[in-house]
Amino acid sequence: MENRKKLDDLILKNKELASKLFVIHQELVFQNEEQEKRAAELLIENKELASKLFAIHQELVFQNEEKEKRAAELLIANKELVFQNEEKAKRAEELIIANNNLEQFAYIASHDLQEPLRTISNYMQVFEEDYLSQLDENAKKYLYEVKAASNRMSVLIKSLLDFSRLGLNLNLIEVDCNQLLKDVISDLQTIIKTSNTVIEVAEMPKLNLYEPEFRQLFQNLIVNAIKYQKKNNQPKIRIRSEKMNNKWKFSITDNGIGIAPVHFKKIFDIFQRIHNNENIYEGKGIGLANCKKIVQMHSGEIWVESVLGKGTTFNFTILNRVL
Ligand code: ADP
Repeated sequence: MENRKKLDDLILKNKELASKLFVIHQELVFQNEEQEKRAAELLIENKELASKLFAIHQELVFQNEEKEKRAAELLIANKELVFQNEEKAKRAEELIIANNNLEQFAYIASHDLQEPLRTISNYMQVFEEDYLSQLDENAKKYLYEVKAASNRMSVLIKSLLDFSRLGLNLNLIEVDCNQLLKDVISDLQTIIKTSNTVIEVAEMPKLNLYEPEFRQLFQNLIVNAIKYQKKNNQPKIRIRSEKMNNKWKFSITDNGIGIAPVHFKKIFDIFQRIHNNENIYEGKGIGLANCKKIVQMHSGEIWVESVLGKGTTFNFTILNRVL
């Protein structure tokens, strides 16, 4: 009896175990199928990824080739620029040498021309003193024409000599431009008073400058502003300064006859004057050439803005050098 019960228990447990094993087996079969499905999906994803990577790789190779091509082109362009730069530097050097030669020539020529011209003037003087009474009216007229021409020539030669001497002995010093302008205006008192000119000067900086040359620059511009005026017009001049990075900009504005744009550049060339009906003013045509030379000594630029009949502004920049 006892044994029979034990056997029945065993049979029962066996059945339970068998059914549990069956469930586990079923579960494993299911999991296996799922894994196979996932593996198949992964295979597809993998293939897609590989083809995407391949496309990216192709694109990168293409981009790389393009970049290399571009780099090679840039290298060529760069070499060309370096070459052009070197050529420009060479040209600038040649120009400086040519300019120096020209200035030297102007100096020597004007210096040497003075002597024969002095001889001509002296003999003209003697000729006039000794023979004037023997000359008829026509001969006297010719004599005066020759004298006037040799005087004009002497003035031109002197201006050319001054121009070529400008900047020979440069000495950089600190200058209070307020004081410098006061001095220039005081030196010009006579023409300022006779022309009834009003000059308004704004606050000016202290800068390191070539003082006598800078003074001449302002003097030339102020004299021109007073000279090139409409008849019976009271000259009004405004002088201003403005800081621009390491440079200073100065402007001098007048209410004079103005300048047509076609002359804006050439007025800064030596012996260039404007020939029109309005320009009935005396002059040698060298003042602005001197101004340009002085501005260039200070590593700056000079330019003009103007409206005919209304007035003119001369602007120039000056590099504030370190002493
Ligand atoms: P100059 O005054 O001896 O003729 P510049 O070189 O100083 O020589 O000037 C050149 C020309 O520029 C002058 O002949 C004149 O026609 C013109 N000019 C200069 N400054 C002025 C000004 N402020 N207003 C009008 N014209 C001017």
